[in-house]
Amino acid sequence: MLEIYVFLLFNNLTAKETLLVLKKVGQYLLSKEIKLAKYAGFCYGVKRAVLTAKKLKKENPDKKVCIFGELIHNADVIRELENLGIITLYEIPEQVENAICIIRSHGATPEILKQLENAGFEIHDLTCLDVKKVQQKAMELVKDNYFLIIVGKAEHPEVMAIKAHAEQFGENILVASSVEELKQHADEIKSQKIGVVVQTTQRMETLNSIVEYLLSISKELKIYNTICLSTSHRQNEARELAKENDLVLVVGSKKSANTTHLAEILTDLAKTIHIENADELENYKEIINSSEKIAVTAGASTPDYIIENVINTIKGGK
Ligand code: SF4
Repeated sequence: MLEIYVFLLFNNLTAKETLLVLKKVGQYLLSKEIKLAKYAGFCYGVKRAVLTAKKLKKENPDKKVCIFGELIHNADVIRELENLGIITLYEIPEQVENAICIIRSHGATPEILKQLENAGFEIHDLTCLDVKKVQQKAMELVKDNYFLIIVGKAEHPEVMAIKAHAEQFGENILVASSVEELKQHADEIKSQKIGVVVQTTQRMETLNSIVEYLLSISKELKIYNTICLSTSHRQNEARELAKENDLVLVVGSKKSANTTHLAEILTDLAKTIHIENADELENYKEIINSSEKIAVTAGASTPDYIIENVINTIKGGK
């Protein structure tokens, strides 16, 4: 709006022209309906991890407080934690003293946990309870001689930890994020007794297609749908938002699995823009200006202030 006032001031418009410009601005603001999704932003697992990390640092000013790996996929939050003196560890030092290490919501492999313990860290395990449940189910299936299939991305830390926990009890384990990937192992899994768990942030469509394929080749199939409630609520709401709006904005890191899946679901159903923060809105001015009903949703690792900033920027007509 500021730019408009400046424009009027410096351009000496006639009263009629001024009224016309103001009318246009009014029409722009009135015609836009911006809806914020109910399930946008931090999930309970992420909220718990961020709050506990800050609390631990406050309560232990003399101790070194570290997190093994980035606490969440959000550069602003990592920076904020670093400013508070909370260190992100990418490698485990040989020996430490007076140091706490937080296990993030994705969990960690038994090997990492052992190494941290041996190094002398006091461990605070903030693995999300939903992720713990997947680790538990995966271990149970392997112990019961099921060939374990983990539906998810092999390189994602949550999946790596689930797999490593299960590997303590057997070797028949595969990770796949699509039917195509599984088909490459058809001979290995054909006619087996198969057990399935799912990365907590996967798409339901992915699980469905994999289960359909496995039904056609397995001897016995046991499925645990371990997509967490936060993810399913968010994804179901996104499908509704796609029906009711001209445009949906997904706010969150492009490195975040749950945010990327949200954007994928929406792209199949509606005009969708995936941005990390308000700065990127600049690139989508045209499509935003031409949309009357806009919905905003966000991944589980997107802080509220980033979402608010996006909404305020659109409202400001920038
Ligand atoms: S997305 Fe789900 S599993 Fe992951 S931290 Fe949040 S609640 Fe837990």
